Amino acid sequence: MARNTIARIDAAALAHNLGRVREWAPDSRVMAVVKADAYGHRIDLCLPALEGADLLAVATIEEARAIRRLGNGLPVLLLEGVVDYGDLAVAADLGLELTLHHVQQIEALERFGRSPTERLWLKIDTGMHRLGVPAESAGEMHARLLALPGVEQVNLISHFACAEEPEHPLNALQLERFERATAGLEGERCMSNSAGLINFPAARYEWVRAGLVLYGISPLPDRSGPDLGLEPVMTLSAELLAINRVARGEQIGYGARFTAERDMLVGVAGIGYGDGYPRGMADGTPVLVDGRSCRLCGRVSMDMITIDLTDGPEAQIGDEVILWGRGLPIEGIAACADTIPYELVCRITRRVRFRDQALVGSGGLRAVK
Ligand SMILES: *Cc1c(COP(=O)(O)O)cnc(C)c1O
Repeated sequence: MARNTIARIDAAALAHNLGRVREWAPDSRVMAVVKADAYGHRIDLCLPALEGADLLAVATIEEARAIRRLGNGLPVLLLEGVVDYGDLAVAADLGLELTLHHVQQIEALERFGRSPTERLWLKIDTGMHRLGVPAESAGEMHARLLALPGVEQVNLISHFACAEEPEHPLNALQLERFERATAGLEGERCMSNSAGLINFPAARYEWVRAGLVLYGISPLPDRSGPDLGLEPVMTLSAELLAINRVARGEQIGYGARFTAERDMLVGVAGIGYGDGYPRGMADGTPVLVDGRSCRLCGRVSMDMITIDLTDGPEAQIGDEVILWGRGLPIEGIAACADTIPYELVCRITRRVRFRDQALVGSGGLRAVK
């Protein structure tokens, strides 16, 4: 029997979350951000639920190609544009919309002589200082792009550095700079990621860029996805491989990090950092064993973790262990590893089997091949 270390992907939850974004930003169009293989959820499992989006946004040309291979006809935007000149022909072939964030990209496109699509997106740096043309040059760059053969529309993008902290003074400054840089320029505007579209109604504009919230995860500190009316798309689970007695005073796992302060019942589940469950998870991190809340004890190994079952003695070998997802919000789990949920979902490794929740059915995981 195959190892039951499984990421279940719930497409219905994804469609629900897209609806939630529409409720937050009813007057905006929605870019569904599906970079990094749909934030590690697997693009092939997610695309069917995103039919209702207005555009799909990715980071790389390979990600765009994967979407086209799946036969999806929605507009696709390269959030960082192309990185080398040869990719312009590929972008034209695949009909990809480009972000232009640097004068060199604009020069390359001018040399290429035409735009892959009628619509382009000019990215303006308003204070994050990662990508974007300087705000002072936005008017000139916008005009150069509009002058290219085949271009009908040049939209305007910027990106918040601190959208999940609404009180941070940089937000208002960035918004003000964006307003000033784009005043009088024709084109639709797009400024907000997940946190921005929730926190700043004034920054929703004609377009919002929704990533994390689509996957049912909260971008706001101290709120979980369910708190925001979102449903988790990924549920990561494994199976109990062993249940052992450990006497008081003995230690558990690598480095003997955890010492039993009482006689314990310890479950071993088949998941570890080799699957993407971080080695940095702290003692006490919650897991669900057959639906009951239990705690991690001892260091995460490559293939296994150890769980305190002392207060749940009815657990049995083969029980399902949920690491995050339905019933166990990922936001709190990320905090236990001193990271963010974005990183947890993106680092699931190829050893984990992905399953479409709708196909899992009532027969339980073992019924699925
Ligand atoms: C990834 C990304 C997003 C999505 O951010 P979320 O916080 O996941 O909503 C938006 N805009 C840009 C430019 C991005 O790279």
